Amino acid sequence: MNAEKIRRDFPILNRKHRSGRRVVYLDSAATSQKPKQVLDAERKYYEEKNANPHRAVYELSQLATEAYEGARERVAKFIGAKSAREIVFVRNTTEAINLVRHAWGRKNLAKGGGVTATVMEHHSNLVPWLLAREEFGAKLEFIDFDNEGKLEQREIGRKITGKTKLVAVTQVSNVLATVNNVRRIAKLAHEEGALTLVDGAQAAPHQRVNVQKLECDFYAFSGHKMLGPMNVGVLWAREELLEEMEPFLGGGNMIREVTLAGARWNDVPHKFEAGTANVAGAVGLAAAMDYLEKIGLGNVWRHEQSLGAYALKRLGEFKELEFYGPRKASERAGLVAFNFGDVHPHDLAQCLDEEMGVAVRSGHHCTMPLHQKLGITASTRASFYVHNTKEDVDALCEGLEKARGIFQLK
Ligand code: PMP
Repeated sequence: MNAEKIRRDFPILNRKHRSGRRVVYLDSAATSQKPKQVLDAERKYYEEKNANPHRAVYELSQLATEAYEGARERVAKFIGAKSAREIVFVRNTTEAINLVRHAWGRKNLAKGGGVTATVMEHHSNLVPWLLAREEFGAKLEFIDFDNEGKLEQREIGRKITGKTKLVAVTQVSNVLATVNNVRRIAKLAHEEGALTLVDGAQAAPHQRVNVQKLECDFYAFSGHKMLGPMNVGVLWAREELLEEMEPFLGGGNMIREVTLAGARWNDVPHKFEAGTANVAGAVGLAAAMDYLEKIGLGNVWRHEQSLGAYALKRLGEFKELEFYGPRKASERAGLVAFNFGDVHPHDLAQCLDEEMGVAVRSGHHCTMPLHQKLGITASTRASFYVHNTKEDVDALCEGLEKARGIFQLK
C-alpha cells in the first residue's frame, strides 16, 4: 500500500501547520482524520436523501431509511455479524458499553453478579462497571498485567470463575499497544457460564475483526477512530441476547405500541435506538469501511506494525526514553506511549507541536489505573494509521532531538 498516495485523500493533512511545515498527525488513536470519500458520502446523503428515517411515507424518508439500513448491512458484513439485526448504532464505544451496563447489567448483575475487567481498560470500559457496583451491587475483579504490559495468564484463570457474569476486556490497549487474545478469554468465560464484552475501539479500525470467530458476546467500537464521522459507533451483540435485554433509552422509534398504561418494544435492534438516528454518520461510517476494505485490513495492520517497529527502533536511539508495553514490535499494535527523561508529557507534546508540527497525545489517555500500575501519572503517545509514513516517525525523532536541547537533557 502507498501511504503517501493515501495521505492525499485526507484534505486536512494538506493544510500547513502554523510553522509552515506539513502536519504530522500521530494521534489517530484519539480520533482519526477523514478521507474525502467519507466526507463526500456524508455530503451526498444530506444533498440527496436527507429526511427523518423510519417515519414518513414520502420518497425522501424512504431514501433516508434505505441509506441508514444499508449502512447497518455494511457494518454487519465488515465485522462478520450473522445479520444486520445484531448491529445497534450508538454514539461511540462509551455509549455501547453503557448500553450493556443498563440493558443487560440491570437484570444480570444485580445482587453481586461478577464483572471481571482488566487493569489496562480505558475508563469507558471501567467506569460503567464501577457504577454498576454502586447501582446494582455488581462485584468487580481486575486482571493485572505484567511488566511487558501483557495480561497475567495465571490471573485470567483465577479471576474468571463460576461467579463471573461478564468479562469486560479490551482487544488492543490504547497505551500499551498490547493485543489481547480475546478469543481465548471468551472461551474461558463461556466455560464458566459468563459472557464477554470486547472493547474493540483500538482494534476494529486496524485489523480484520470477525465477531463470530472471536466467540465474544458483545463487541463495541467507535466510527470516529476508523476514518468515519464522530458520534456514530456500534454495539454488536448476538441477536438472542439483544432480544432478552431491556431497552436502554426510552422514546420514539424504540416502541411498537404505547398506551398510557405502558408500552411494547420495537424489534431489535430498533428497541435500542430511541429518537432520531444519526443517518449521515452511519452513511459516513459505511463509506469509511468501504475505504478500509479497499486498502485491505491485512495491509492496514501490516503497515501500522511496520511503522510501529520502525518507531521502536528509532526511539531506542534515545537513552532517556522509556516506552511501555511489549518489547517485541511483532506483539504490538501501531502505537507507542513513552516518557522522555523527566520532561512532562504535556511540555513535550507542546514542544513537538511548536518545533515540528507533530501532533501527539499527552496525559493519562483515560487509563488512570493503568498509569498508576506503571508508577507514572502521564505519558506521551504516538499512534499510526494508513496515511502515516516513516518520514512522520523521523519528524517525531527530530522533535525529540530538539526537545533534548530545549529541556537540557544530558
Ligand atoms: N476504549 C479504548 C481502548 C479507547 O482507546 C477509547 C478512545 N480513546 C475508548 C474506548 C472510548 O472511545 P469513545 O470516546 O469513542 O467512546
